[in-house]
Amino acid sequence: MSDGVNLSRRHLLRGHLKAAAPAVQLPWSLPWPEFVADCSRCGDCLSACPEQIIIKGDGGFPALDLGLGECSFCGDCASACQEPLFRPRDQRPWDYIAQITEGCLANGQVYCQRCQDSCEARAIRFIPVLGRVPTPSVDADLCTGCGACVGDCPVGSIKVASPAHKEHE
Ligand code: SF4
Ligand code: SF4
Ligand code: SF4
Repeated sequence: MSDGVNLSRRHLLRGHLKAAAPAVQLPWSLPWPEFVADCSRCGDCLSACPEQIIIKGDGGFPALDLGLGECSFCGDCASACQEPLFRPRDQRPWDYIAQITEGCLANGQVYCQRCQDSCEARAIRFIPVLGRVPTPSVDADLCTGCGACVGDCPVGSIKVASPAHKEHE
């Protein structure tokens, strides 16, 4: 039997077909269809996370809420999980990067550089423009997607997502 058929059978048996993928999955976790096929929703990852940023998402499956804090990439969620749901931790945890959306105060000519101060990786830069408030840009090579900037933005204008979902350059 192929992996695809096995996956479909497990979906049907567990009734997980309607669980929507969260905006931010756990670091190192498998692609969503594989994750929901084997996640028992035991909650061990939630209690293991020292940052307390793992929440119960759609269908009771774990998701990250980076508005609650940043991911330190400690790996405790993956270590706590009894199921084969996580990739080896010597790999990149994910391809997420920070994305700054339209609501950024700088777009309305309001001075703010709080996100730059939040970022230990120094991935957020402000380029001075004559006569205008500088706007932030994210260096995709430096950004780890940790989310420290997400909760620190006073107007909630930063999200973390895969580059394919990027809304604004
Ligand atoms: S890697 Fe650590 S901080 Fe990040 S979600 Fe997992 S347990 Fe929480
Ligand atoms: S913290 Fe938010 S509002 Fe302030 S510059 Fe950064 S993205 Fe814009
Ligand atoms: S997600 Fe983390 S590394 Fe990326 S810009 Fe925000 S604070 Fe910096």
